[in-house]
Formats: sequence, structure tokens, C-alpha cells
Amino acid sequence: MKASPSSATAIRRQIEAQIRQLEIDLSHFEAWSLAQLGFGHSLVDDAGVAFDQATQLTLRQNTERRLSQLQHALQRLETGFYGLCEGCGETIDPERLLAIIDARLCVSCQRMQERSPLGRLAAMA
Ligand SMILES: [Zn+2]
Repeated sequence: MKASPSSATAIRRQIEAQIRQLEIDLSHFEAWSLAQLGFGHSLVDDAGVAFDQATQLTLRQNTERRLSQLQHALQRLETGFYGLCEGCGETIDPERLLAIIDARLCVSCQRMQERSPLGRLAAMA
């Protein structure tokens, strides 16, 4: 099944909106890091700061990863590969794409990847 132009546009809009939101989130992380550098430990104790920094770093890394996944999906939309499994080339279930807009694998390839340690590494890269 090939996506009709109107639904491709809808998907693109949705992805772009999510990308914009993530970029805003990232700019907040930047602001937070700068504030940490500038004001140091005046308001919170060291343990609290260390915890916050670790949490922020994790959140930020997740946001960056999510952002690159969405940009990848957008790229695939532009090249006409959106909605096709990167593992087997089959069409990804539209229901799955509704749930995960940037899904790169069909359910069976995803399962196979989750079962193999190498696949897990590839998924994290
Ligand atoms: Zn597949």
C-alpha cells in the first residue's frame, strides 16, 4: 500500500510538529546547563545538583535520540521509503505507524532485533 499524498502531508506535519517540540525541549536543556554553570550551587546542595545533572543528561540524550529518529523518518518520507520496513522491505502495519510514527521495522523484524544482542546494539546506535 502506498501512502496517498494527503496522508503523507499529514504525517509530515505531525513529524515536523514533534521535531519542533523536541527542539524547544533541547533549547530548555541548553538554558538549564548555562544556568548551572552560572549560578552553581547557591540554591541546591551538591547531591541534588549531581542528581539533576544526571537526570538532565539522560533526558537530553533521549530527546536527541528521538529527534534524530524523527528526522530520519522525515527523510524516508521524502525519499518515498516511509512506512516500509528497513529489515525486510515489507509495508509496516499502518496501525503500528499510528502508534509509532517513526517506526523503522515491522513487528516481526522488531521482535527479531529485540531477541538478538547484535540487533539491540544496532538499534541503540
Ligand atoms: Zn520487516
